[in-house]
Amino acid sequence: MTKKIAVLAGDGIGPEIVDEAIKVLQALAKDGLDIALEYGLIGGAAYDETGTPLPDETVEISKSADAILLGAVGGYKWESLDISVRPEKGLLGIRSQLNLFANLRPAILYPQLADASTLKPEVVAGLDLMIVRELTGGIYFGQPRGIRTLENGEKEGFNTLVYRESEIQRIGKVAFDIAQKRQGRLCSVDKANVLESTELWRETMTDLAENYSDVELSHMYVDNAAMQLVRAPKQFDVMVTTNMFGDILSDCASMLTGSIGMLPSASLDESGKGMYEPIHGSAPDIAGQNVANPLATILSASMMLRYTLDEPAMADRIEAAVSKVLDQGLRTADIYSEGMTKVGTSEMGDAVVAAL
Ligand code: NAD
Repeated sequence: MTKKIAVLAGDGIGPEIVDEAIKVLQALAKDGLDIALEYGLIGGAAYDETGTPLPDETVEISKSADAILLGAVGGYKWESLDISVRPEKGLLGIRSQLNLFANLRPAILYPQLADASTLKPEVVAGLDLMIVRELTGGIYFGQPRGIRTLENGEKEGFNTLVYRESEIQRIGKVAFDIAQKRQGRLCSVDKANVLESTELWRETMTDLAENYSDVELSHMYVDNAAMQLVRAPKQFDVMVTTNMFGDILSDCASMLTGSIGMLPSASLDESGKGMYEPIHGSAPDIAGQNVANPLATILSASMMLRYTLDEPAMADRIEAAVSKVLDQGLRTADIYSEGMTKVGTSEMGDAVVAAL
């Protein structure tokens, strides 16, 4: 059956990098991948055209699609707008409208790029870890929240860290399922020694483990996890954690790999439908110059094939093709080092298609 993909290119380098991912998907379509693309506006581009960063039509296209491929949103042009219509609102809006509660952030370091990391090559070469972050609950959404004035006139800021058992179970299941498809090791990260909400997190993960005899579950406090990520990141296979801890740890993990232009991500709902996007932003400083690295977006398309469209062999082909172009010495400016061949955005996309 034809799978519908909503394509939301967005702003800045978004359209350039999404074009390259589409090239790759269209090349696979010639080999039998049955997809139909539908384009929608989001972010600043949508605001300019319609007065809102998330038009209803975009929400409809995305809801009726099997998966969504997103570029990036934002840019200098829209920075002075009221916060309610800023491009980033479009992104937060689509995530919540589609109930995308599971954020998958792989940190993979291709051996060919081991020098790009600020860590020693032997610590990071061959790194392949997946962080599963809860995305729609926890302290970023908990009520009550706000800033109040106390009786003595002093101001007090407050937020609420709250997790229901059902919220922990559904993110836990996603993480266990992923661990099953990888090396079978899951590390649940919490702060159960001081936070009751994450004490429940730990208990719930432990209960879930009974249904996954082929996955080895371990627990780690978040402070230790931060330290271990930098000390010996290759000890991890899959990590699962709360919204805020995941926000921080996944950015830390992405920098282990040295290049923001290489990392894809996925955000999934309960049925496995997902939005796929590079972890970087719209890079307005280099937009329109054909210098952006399209590989994070191309690898996001590969994640889409693996996690939503159930085409793991096609996903393997994209990942092998990316590895091959790196072996050939092709580099965009952000990952360039001496002796390599510098290429632009579209040349990199063409090279991946040729390597497929
Ligand atoms: P950014 O990720 O856009 O850029 C940070 C740096 O990395 C810049 O120097 C940029 O040139 C470089 N870079 C990013 N992607 C690259 C790529 N594919 N190839 C080569 N170099 C790349 O982050 P920023 O500068 O903090 O934000 C710029 C805009 O993007 C802001 O409006 C911000 O709100 C928005 N943003 C959007 C998203 C998203 O759409 N998911 C995420 C983060 C930031």
